[in-house]
Order: sequence, then C-alpha cells, then structure tokens
Amino acid sequence: MQTDEIGSDLYVRLQTDLLVIGDSIMTDRHHASNGNYQADDPQNQIGGIIPAFSLSGWLRHGMEAVVQQYGGTACHPGEANANFMRSDVYERDLDDGYHKKGACIDDPEDDAGCVIFDLFGGFGDIPGKMMRRPIQFSPVRSNVDYTRGQAEGHYRQLSRNVVSRNDEDHRKPLRNAEIDAVANLDGTWHLSLREMKPAFVGLLIEALDFFDAHKTDFMHQLGGARNFGAGIVECALINPLYEERELKRVFNRGKGNTNAMDEKDEQWAAEFQPAFVDALTERISEGP
Ligand SMILES: [Zn+2]
Repeated sequence: MQTDEIGSDLYVRLQTDLLVIGDSIMTDRHHASNGNYQADDPQNQIGGIIPAFSLSGWLRHGMEAVVQQYGGTACHPGEANANFMRSDVYERDLDDGYHKKGACIDDPEDDAGCVIFDLFGGFGDIPGKMMRRPIQFSPVRSNVDYTRGQAEGHYRQLSRNVVSRNDEDHRKPLRNAEIDAVANLDGTWHLSLREMKPAFVGLLIEALDFFDAHKTDFMHQLGGARNFGAGIVECALINPLYEERELKRVFNRGKGNTNAMDEKDEQWAAEFQPAFVDALTERISEGP
C-alpha cells in the first residue's frame, strides 16, 4: 500500500438537522422566490452557500484537540503580536497545548511548521496547504453534485420573538430577530490538499473520529444557536478510494454499497487508515 495512491481531493460527509452560521448563509432566494420568502411555505426552493469560515474554524479546533491528545502543541489561531482583549486567557492557552502562531517556524523558506500551521497557514503570505471550500446547498436533491462539495439542505429563516412579560400586553412582541438556518443538511464538504502529506490525511481521520465522540460537546458543535440544539454534526470521511460514481452512491438512499465499495472499505480500514495515522504520530513526535 502506498499512501500516495489517493488523490488530493478529500470529501467529508456532513449531516446535521440544523445549522446556524454566524457569518451567515448566502442565499439565492432572490432568484428562487422573487424575494417573497414565506417561512412556512413548503414549496420554497431556496438554495445557497455556506461559507467556509465557520466550517474551517470548527475543523481546526478538532484538529488542535487531536494534536494535543497526541502530546503535541498546536499553533494558536491568533496572531502572536495581536492585542488580545484578554491577554491572560491567551497566555493560559499557551500553557495549555498551544504555542504562539508561527513559533514553530524558524525559516519560512525551509520550515513547514507544526502540522496545524502547515495545513491552515499563518502569516498573510503563507497559505495553508489545505483548501477549505464553501458548501453549496440546494433543497432539490437532483440538483446536488456531491462530487463538487455540495449538499442537500433546506434554507429556513427562523424568527425569534422576545415578548412582553406584562399580563396586560398579552405576550406582545418586544423584539423580533430573524436568523438564517439550514435544516436537514446532508452532503459533502470538499477539502483539497495543495500538497499531499500522509500526516494531513491522518489528522483529518483522527479529527473526524474525535468529532464523532464529541459531537454534542458545546465546544465542538458547529456554528451558532448551539444552546438550541443547532450545530450537532455527524461527519465522516468518504472513503478516498471510491470513484466518483461510488461517492454519489453513498447518497442514494435507494441503493446500498456495492461489493466493490465494501472491499474498498475493508482495504481502507485495514491498510490505509493505520498508515496515515502512523504518519501523523510520527510527524507529531518529531515536533514542534
Ligand atoms: Zn505551529
């Protein structure tokens, strides 16, 4: 088995009942519904884009936790010279599994830094080696191309009313807030590696495993409104040995795995996965 037998495109299956993204969802509602959005209209066919920022932060946080579990430290996401509002908290982070962003690099020409820096980048002109794409979603499954990092999902605008507590007001609304949400999301998040390093794949495998065990932990839920049950995500790496048509078949509720897919799953679990995880172990044990 060679770890370079897989390509640089990786697909994570994401499933969640409700997702509220802090940096907001871009919708195509103006085309789809002529601007007349009715929250209770089951016919609304609004699709859109979930930006990658929140997704990326969520993944990074899980990856940092894995690096720490392996006994390493991770680049802090904040600039070392930033003026943190709470510098005491930053200093505490540095004692607790983090190093200053970029402290893992002596010479930017030669050093890759820690695996987190290597994947996510750091200073302005050093890009991470993992490109995180937005997820395009559509409520119409036949329009969804899972091989392009898309998902089935139903855009909803939720209203939150704060009502008067005085009896004589009969619960008159004091304030009304609209929140963009995607319900019943199921699809792929497309990650592509600018450079293939087996440790990257190992870290992704371990992070997704970590999320599986921590999906209801407040810290590892995705996006906003977590107190209301949003952001609990089921995620799994789609077997990178799959061909395109096999990847699509994962989302076909009428069809199960083919024998060839089952064989690839066994091969992935028995040979590839341990080799990638070994590469991660080695990379972290080498430091920094
Ligand atoms: Zn680092």
